[in-house]
Amino acid sequence: MFPKSGFSYIGRKPCGCMVTAIIDNPDTSRAVATEVASWLRQGLTVERVTHQVVRDEFMGWMCPHAPPKPEQMPLFDTLEESKRFEAATYAINQEIIG
Ligand SMILES: [Zn+2]
Repeated sequence: MFPKSGFSYIGRKPCGCMVTAIIDNPDTSRAVATEVASWLRQGLTVERVTHQVVRDEFMGWMCPHAPPKPEQMPLFDTLEESKRFEAATYAINQEIIG
């Protein structure tokens, strides 16, 4: 996945866990910058490290300190209802967009 030498940008959560990484590649610097900017918006701390650090530390997006997901209220009581809504929304969109 990561080349032998070179650098990557990594994002750390406030707990310190490395949860995301992208290779610092001059050929794709625009995409890398966009990605890193999105990490900052998510509140991650960004660092530039060697690929070896990524190999040693990267553990995936979920870290053991992730807060439990808040329970999501279902928008519809039944699948039937949800499908009816979807069909209605589709029909309205077709009318608007044409
Ligand atoms: Zn953590």
